[in-house]
This record gives sequence, C-alpha cells and structure tokens, in this order.
Amino acid sequence: MRFLPAIALLLSATASLHAATPTSADPASAQRVRADVEFLASDNLEGRDTGSKGYQIAADYVASQFRAIGLEPAGEEGGWFQNVPFRRASFETPPRMTLNIGGKTVALEQAKDAGIRPSVTAKSRNLTAGFVFVGYGLKDARNGFDDYRGLNLKGKIAVALAGTPKGLPSEIEAHLNASKDRMAAEAGAVGFVEIGEGGRYNSVRRYSRPLIDWVDTDGRAGSTPAGIVVQLGLSKEIAERLFEGAPRSLASVQAEAKRDGKPGPRGFALRPVLTVQAESKWEDFTSPEVVGMLKGSDPALAAEHVVLMGHLDHLGIKPDAKPGEDAIYNGALDNAAGVATMLEAARLFAAQPVRPKRSVLFIANTGEERGLLGADYYASHPTVPARSIVGLVDLDMPLLLYPFTDVTAFGADHSTVGAIVAQAGASMGISVSPDPMPEEAIFTRSDHYQFVRRGVPAVLLMTGHANGGKDIWNSWLSKIYHSPQDDLTQRIDWDAGARYALLNYRIAREMADGPARPMWLQGDYFGDLFDPKGPRAPAKAAR
Ligand SMILES: [Zn+2]
Repeated sequence: MRFLPAIALLLSATASLHAATPTSADPASAQRVRADVEFLASDNLEGRDTGSKGYQIAADYVASQFRAIGLEPAGEEGGWFQNVPFRRASFETPPRMTLNIGGKTVALEQAKDAGIRPSVTAKSRNLTAGFVFVGYGLKDARNGFDDYRGLNLKGKIAVALAGTPKGLPSEIEAHLNASKDRMAAEAGAVGFVEIGEGGRYNSVRRYSRPLIDWVDTDGRAGSTPAGIVVQLGLSKEIAERLFEGAPRSLASVQAEAKRDGKPGPRGFALRPVLTVQAESKWEDFTSPEVVGMLKGSDPALAAEHVVLMGHLDHLGIKPDAKPGEDAIYNGALDNAAGVATMLEAARLFAAQPVRPKRSVLFIANTGEERGLLGADYYASHPTVPARSIVGLVDLDMPLLLYPFTDVTAFGADHSTVGAIVAQAGASMGISVSPDPMPEEAIFTRSDHYQFVRRGVPAVLLMTGHANGGKDIWNSWLSKIYHSPQDDLTQRIDWDAGARYALLNYRIAREMADGPARPMWLQGDYFGDLFDPKGPRAPAKAAR
C-alpha cells in the first residue's frame, strides 16, 4: 500500500502520453479483481478440475462476465465455448511386455521394470520392435545436432539419454527436451524411450499413470506424435541390459555425455527386441475453452487478432485427503488470479472510448494442469483463422502477495513484444527482469508456448523478485504451490492484481494498436523454427 501513491504520481505524470489509459489508482479495479477471484476460488467450485462440474460452473461464470463486459461470443457455433474432446486412457489389466536379450526372454513388470504409457490413439497395441540408441536424440540444425545421422530408425524404438548437452540457453534446452519424441517420429521410429537418472526423468512411474489428452475427430492427439506407438520408461537395471552385446555400455555413453559436452555421444543399433501387448481403457469427456472477442475498429487490421488468455482449470479435489483435512485445491493464485486479471483487462479494453485497431480475443483455457491441453487444442483448432493470430499475452499464476515493482517476461526477448513490455512497464514504474529460475523452464511449461509453437510471438508475465518478491516466491513455491493452501486465506494484495491487469492491458493494447503486428526478431531461434516465412524486425532496433 505504501507503494501505490508513487505509482499514482507516476501515472499522472505520464497522463499526457496515455490520455485514454485507465490508471490503477481506481480502487474499483482492485475490487473487481477481488470479486472474480473470490468466486472462482470458492470451495463450491471444488478446485475447477478439467471436465468437472466445478470447472463448468467457472466456465459459465466467465462467459457471463464476457457478456456483461460487452464481448462477442467467439467459440464454436456462435457460442462462448469451444468444447475440447478429452480422453483419459488407463490400463484395466497390466500390459504384457517381454524383452528378448541374447536369445533369452525376460518378462517386464509394468511400473517396476518398465512403464509403458497408456495410449489415447490406439486402443490395442501389439508390437515387436528393436531399439536404436540415438545419443541425446536431437535433430536441430541451428545448434549443430544431428543424432539420427546414419541411423536407421524405421520400425525401431529410439533410446535417448535424457537432457541436452550443457551450455544451451535454458529456453532452447527446454524446447529440445519437449520435442524429442517428435524428432524420433520424424526419423521413422515407432517408439521412444528416454533414459535419465531419477527425478523428473523417472518415466517408469510417470508413464504407468493414466494419461489425459485431447483427441480430435481426425484421431490426432496432443501428446503422441503421429507414428509413435509406444512411449516407454525403463528401470536402471533394464536400461543397462538394453546395451548388452552393443559396441558400448550405457555407463560408457553416459560418462561421455557428462564429460564432453556438445554434441553428445553418437548412436548405434542395440540387440534386444521388445514385444508389447497392451489394451488401453478409454473414458471420453469434454471441457470448454471460453472465448470472447472485442472486434477491432480498423477496417483492415480488425481481421488480425491479439489474444489475452489465462487458464481457468486447477487440480480439483485431493483424492487421498484424511478426514478433516482441507481437500480442495482452490487455485486462488494458480490461476483464479490470472483469469480475474484477464477479465479486468477486458473491462479496461471495453471502457475505452476508442476500440483497439486489431480485434482482441479473450480465452479462459481448460486442461492446463493436465499438460497445457486446452491451449494446445485451441492453438491447433482455432476459432479464427490461424494466421490471423498475431500476438498473445498469457496470464498465469501472478503472485499477488506483494506490491511488485518488476516482472519477468517469458518469451519477450524473442520478438518485438520485448520492447512493448518494457515500454508498458516503464509507463507504470515497473521494470523487466531476467528469468530468475531458468531451471524451471517456464517458457515451455506454460500455455503461451503452445502458440509460440505455431509461430505466434507470445509473452507470459510473472511478478518479479524485486521489492521482497524473491523470498515470497521461494516460500510460496515450496509451501503453497499446487497445495490446498493456495486458497482465499492468503493475504492477497488486490491492488497488485489491479496493476497486473493494467500492465497486461497496456501490453495487449499496444499489440492491438501498433502500426506493425508483433514480429519475431531477425535470427531468433524460435521465430526461425516456428515461423520461418513470417515478417521480421531488426534485432537491434527492437531492444
Ligand atoms: Zn498450476
């Protein structure tokens, strides 16, 4: 609260530059953010799990707010919703897996020796296939990686070391880690195994769990690249045995990977052969993206769309709660706060005397906590022409617990969005800081990445580490994040919510009004990869 008078002063000082811009000094804005968070995070919505009634009530609420704000429905068939077709796949009986090693057949137990992932695209799977070790399993010309060179993967299962060679920028590293099964599929593989050393790479347990994914009417799914039949994790012991009779042992290639850095060990064919018989059980359900539009005012630019979005879903109800224990994952900051600030940004847009030049789409996403699924589905099945989406702002988990004075803008450095964020921040006395936790790979772990993958310059803002933010973030991530304690008993700073909404409004407004659409910077890795033919801005001028 001490901070706010300074901001109000700053805003009035720049008022001539932003004559039509609302200021955060309006206490009603903070109260509107509060009202939305209090509804969306209430116990009655039972944690807004994807596909649940609580989520649907939240979606109905967002649609009501969209109508009250004056947006137009922009979902399917003239309505507010795009119903995402979800499928939950699990095993009724454990899959049967055997490994033939040197003429001997070894039975593999699911979730112990190996973990095969249930499939949302193939109900029964009968497969016999050999393995090929592919080093880190990377194909990426820009970084000089070609681990599939000279290897024949046709009908084989690719076996990759987890991770990437050291020294890559964290965002590229995270992107490559998330793309390995697709790279294996492109090389002709029918399966993919990643061998890690515990922790996040413990895919034996992870892959044995039920899988939720979208599956469209063409049978395409978000999690499974076309051609990949099995995604598999192996225990340390079985992973070692896979290399029996091979030119080198697993320990030897792992040691080389640790020692030598780029580009990692060369691949070679392995001798064992895997046989799999697996029957997946499917449960289908739908859960909506909620989509509203504010039509642009410029006759030519109104056909282009800027997207403002935030995920509405959270984790539902804790299944193993003890009697009397708080079991509801309210997700007050993750991400009722993001949706509430998106709604407030929509109100700020609607309250302006002049509409933005480009059209603005507002989307509340489903399935984020299940793997960025709703945004992925929308990005691959947009309700407006895909190429008309020219820029995007994602509002995910703003930590509204302190008067933040800086933000981290994930994705901003790659496009002209960086300059837009810096300018909007400066107009409010908010600075832009570098990523304080690159190891978390937030860039690829948030919904906006699903649009980046389709070539859209996009940004996610996180409240920053300055002004006490660091300690608050660290303590919140270790104690509250994804627990039932992310609820309304937290001391939420509603003024911070109003300022976060205003900042995101200003960024989206600049994207919507700028003479040029947001553009990737010349030579940017992600721009060149995902939108090779799109327009470019000079790298220097944009900074
Ligand atoms: Zn979350």
